[in-house]
Amino acid sequence: MRAMVLEKPGQPLRLRDVQKPKPGRGELLVRIAACAVCRTDLHVVDGELPEPKLPLIPGHQIVGRVEQIGEQADPKFQIGDRVGVPWLGWTDGECAYCRSHRENLCDNARFTGYTIDGGYAEYAVADARFCFQLPDAYGDVEAAPLLCAGLIGYRCYRKTGEARRLGIYGFGNAAHLIAQIALHEGRELFVFTRPGDKAAQESARKAGVRWAGGSDQLPPDKLDAAIVFASVGALVPAALRALAKGGIVVCGGIHMSDIPSFPYADLWEERVITSVANLTRRDGEEFFAIAPRVPVKTQTEIFPLENANIALDRFRSGALSATAVLTLGRT
Ligand SMILES: [Zn+2]
Ligand SMILES: [Zn+2]
Repeated sequence: MRAMVLEKPGQPLRLRDVQKPKPGRGELLVRIAACAVCRTDLHVVDGELPEPKLPLIPGHQIVGRVEQIGEQADPKFQIGDRVGVPWLGWTDGECAYCRSHRENLCDNARFTGYTIDGGYAEYAVADARFCFQLPDAYGDVEAAPLLCAGLIGYRCYRKTGEARRLGIYGFGNAAHLIAQIALHEGRELFVFTRPGDKAAQESARKAGVRWAGGSDQLPPDKLDAAIVFASVGALVPAALRALAKGGIVVCGGIHMSDIPSFPYADLWEERVITSVANLTRRDGEEFFAIAPRVPVKTQTEIFPLENANIALDRFRSGALSATAVLTLGRT
């Protein structure tokens, strides 16, 4: 099968003809229709995340159809069914985290497109227990960005609890999706973009947010919560300064530049800083139930598989205006 392969971090992916995988015990062989590109893919390719599997097929927002079913696979899927394969690819089910409903923190977790081969290819194998049924309302390309930007964004959003005034730093893929749910649920949104990025601020205002400005500005009201989607550590103390008492800053990225020091007074009065790591299957089930009701709409830009490096370069340089989705030419 054709696959875009990372042989060494820091180098472009190479188009390779590799062995089509076989589904092992509990696994599905998925014929891939689409795989969305996530910022985490960039971190993996650029060598910012430690110890990826090498050589590696990246990609963890996979939409495809079941072509073959391994022994003893979860019977919820039949041959021909459409499935979504997310970042969380496998957990041991036994560690203290798994046994306390925190499988996202599993000590031995494996991740699609990082420690197991992912979706920049014609086929992938995936543990059936971690695959999702996708809402029929979405086409294959449209559904792909929901699998990470949607799921991780949703986990960040849930961590903000009942926050009425919600700030979002970095208005990228995840923010676009989560803003739709937050507005649907009646939250007041405050969006922070790169200073001077008038176009992004205007697009946020058009989406119905209460206020949009630069990340160097303070919002007109104190915030009950803020989500930092941008991978810029300096935004954490900035977001903290915008919070009301008892507010929370949720860091949504897997990688961030260092966070500069800040006065204790900015954290005082029970303000909280937390991060979101990975996802649980429950996050996915909740999100895929809510998304078609809002309905959450995705914006995508299609690239053929062979152009994965172009998609990654454009993502890195900020030249994408929608989520890049790699397709296999048969959606
Ligand atoms: Zn575990
Ligand atoms: Zn991702």
